[in-house]
Amino acid sequence: MALITCPECNNGVSSEVTACPACGSPVPKGPGGVVTTQRTAKKYKATKAVAVCGMLAGLALLWFGINGQMPITVATCVLAVAFVLYVYAEAAAWWNHG
Ligand SMILES: [Zn+2]
Repeated sequence: MALITCPECNNGVSSEVTACPACGSPVPKGPGGVVTTQRTAKKYKATKAVAVCGMLAGLALLWFGINGQMPITVATCVLAVAFVLYVYAEAAAWWNHG
């Protein structure tokens, strides 16, 4: 464990942490964009999570649609958008790793 200087507030920060505890600025981890890679992966995971939630919501709406409480086209649209979003997140994550 080494002590490095925060680029924002010049506070002494442990190299083990990812952000300065004093000002919250991201701490550089030496060569290589480790932080960037993690942030990107998280972005796609978040997109995927939203897409899965959307698909579940779409399925729920489809259930209401089948029971005649809602136009079935609404459910189909939500389901289609969520599915496209999921495929996009999957493809983007794959593209980023490959
Ligand atoms: Zn700082």
